[in-house]
Amino acid sequence: MPTEEQLQALRALPAVDAVLDLLGKTISIEAFPRDLLVGCIREEVEDARSGILAGGNAVDAQSVAQGALVRLKAKGSPSLKRVVNATGVIIHTNLGRSVLAPQAVEAVAAVAGGYSTLEYDTALMKRGSRHVHCEELICTLTGAEAAIAVNNNAAAVMMVLNEFARNRQAVISRGELIEIGGSFRIPDIMDFSNAKMVEVGTTNKTHLSDFERVVTPETAMLLKVHTSNYRLVGFTEAVSAKELEALAKRENKKRREEGIEELLVYEDLGSGVLLGLSGLEGCEEPTVGEALQGCDLVSFSGDKLLGGPQAGIIVGKKCLIDRLKKNPLARALRLDKMTLAALEATLRLCLDPAEAHKSIPTLHMLTASAEEVRSQAEALCAKLRQTLPGDACALSVAPSTARAGGGALPMYDIPSFSVEIAPVGWNAQECAEFLSAKRSTPVIARISHEKLLFDARTLLGEEEADEIACALQAYLSTR
Ligand SMILES: *Cc1c(COP(=O)(O)O)cnc(C)c1O
Repeated sequence: MPTEEQLQALRALPAVDAVLDLLGKTISIEAFPRDLLVGCIREEVEDARSGILAGGNAVDAQSVAQGALVRLKAKGSPSLKRVVNATGVIIHTNLGRSVLAPQAVEAVAAVAGGYSTLEYDTALMKRGSRHVHCEELICTLTGAEAAIAVNNNAAAVMMVLNEFARNRQAVISRGELIEIGGSFRIPDIMDFSNAKMVEVGTTNKTHLSDFERVVTPETAMLLKVHTSNYRLVGFTEAVSAKELEALAKRENKKRREEGIEELLVYEDLGSGVLLGLSGLEGCEEPTVGEALQGCDLVSFSGDKLLGGPQAGIIVGKKCLIDRLKKNPLARALRLDKMTLAALEATLRLCLDPAEAHKSIPTLHMLTASAEEVRSQAEALCAKLRQTLPGDACALSVAPSTARAGGGALPMYDIPSFSVEIAPVGWNAQECAEFLSAKRSTPVIARISHEKLLFDARTLLGEEEADEIACALQAYLSTR
């Protein structure tokens, strides 16, 4: 029950019209949609009401008006904005996964700010196809006969299942029935695509004979899903695409005689390495080209280890890709011109692996030497020493562990370096919240053992070091 004092404070809360009148003295309220203004005032009054019931002070019309103005300003500022990623997680799905290469950013700007050849053939001066911009590049880079790029890899998986396993069976090992963040679960995608899922084997071991036993003329596809974001270790066994291919070959010999549609082998590869990650010692991620050796179709993401925009790329036999291009989902899930421009530019960079590793931020961050990262961390540390008051913290550069992230290379520790800040008389958690919530360019840091950590591996140059310094300075000056 509210106290008498609280009831009085609630009754004294200002009416919306009274606050509007007050606001009219500082801004021209006609310039804003009335609903927007009223909404801001209502939210402010509602907050005041909760505050009072939680034991807070009474609130007058003046402070409601001020609060409403702050809300109005916040509603006018962008929600999707750049952040500084100091987490050391390179393909950070919550922070937008891959950062585009400058060449890709330029390509996006060019087609976004003007008309383009999206579906226009300039030689024939008539309608062209949006598939042409990337297909040849993808084929060159993977050795595939044909390719199609769609909205993302989840869409690619759905499309492949829908086109080839609709109302038929797709066989998958129980060890590969994965869930990836954001409610992408293989059994649900199967359902959604109207494919009938047949699970074989056990969680830890699946043998070729498990597949052989269930293949009937009803079986459309043998499906492999890369366990991108986890690893089965210990007493485990999986069936390779090569073995599945051999099984499909034997089956298809019979099917050709009987005139039944052929059994396909499809691998959802997830991350999709185009160029070998030679800089990463001990990293055994198959390239798309290698995966294709045992498969009719392979799909992978554009914004994971490829380092491009969000996209899903399907590669494989031309007769199969041609069917996918005609599936209505290809239209529903097609790429827009900005993504196509970014993807084309990224793929073009991959034609020259040395250039790709230099220009594509994801590849550069993954393969930069620990020494290179250490000197970046030291430069950031020196900058912070210059800008922050010496008695407010203890600064040091320390080894840390970066991650590929994005469900890629889950067991792979990338040696890195971070600037560590040990607070003197303030709180690391509170500072991290300020850096994230109160800056127009948020800085996302990590906290470990009451210290703030800024991993240099995911920082993009000196500008971001400056932004970190400014943000920390701003925090320390609020105290
Ligand atoms: C990441 C991933 C997906 C989903 O790809 P998106 O491009 O995020 O849609 C699907 N399958 C596997 C194996 C993955 O690793």
